[in-house]
Amino acid sequence: NIPVIAIDGPTASGKGTVAQKVARQLGFHYLDSGALYRLTALSAIRRGIAMNDEHGLAKSAEHLNCHFDGGHIFLANEDVSQAIRAEEVGNTASKIAVLATVRHALYGLQLSFRKAPGLVADGRDMGTVIFPHAPLKVFLTASVEARAQRRYKQLIDKGFPANMEDLSKDLRERDARDMNRASAPLKPAEGAYLLDTSEMTADEAVRQVLSWYAA
Ligand code: C5P
Repeated sequence: NIPVIAIDGPTASGKGTVAQKVARQLGFHYLDSGALYRLTALSAIRRGIAMNDEHGLAKSAEHLNCHFDGGHIFLANEDVSQAIRAEEVGNTASKIAVLATVRHALYGLQLSFRKAPGLVADGRDMGTVIFPHAPLKVFLTASVEARAQRRYKQLIDKGFPANMEDLSKDLRERDARDMNRASAPLKPAEGAYLLDTSEMTADEAVRQVLSWYAA
């Protein structure tokens, strides 16, 4: 029985950083489920699939030709690790993530990341839908201000343009879309521990998750 640690939360709550550090500490595999939605978005944008073409979008998700290697993410053998982090791609990802057909198409791929000795899965519905039997579920939150600040720093560090006002507005819109959609809405899973990281460093959050896991 391969253990899974499910870490969910809103955009820019620090999930990615925390989940990767926890995975490294435990020697577990890591699933960045948001990257799968971003890859689907990028693939659809590039193939000119219309945002109202649900069937075409689901096909893009189903036939996602991607692989993950040493922290890099590839789409049809092209390294798109940077490209999928662009705001446009994130926004498109958030829009197509509303579609149950797209979510369904990515289900099996997500399960396949569960391999020995264990998995840390990061997303919006890891604890509620994909790994509901995970022995540890964590729901990370942080204030909109703290999250906008983090996203701003990430984008600037990666050489993307960024502006705090637009970012806060974007975050609010994405939160609303994630929480209000009919299919796998963002919410804490049953039995999830809540962790507000507004005033925490990533390492403090990692220590908390590890101590819950050890308990
Ligand atoms: O986490 P990240 O910002 O990379 O995810 C991109 C988008 O994919 C999110 O805004 C969210 O709408 C969607 N997503 C999702 N379910 C997941 C992971 C991401 O709906 N498990």
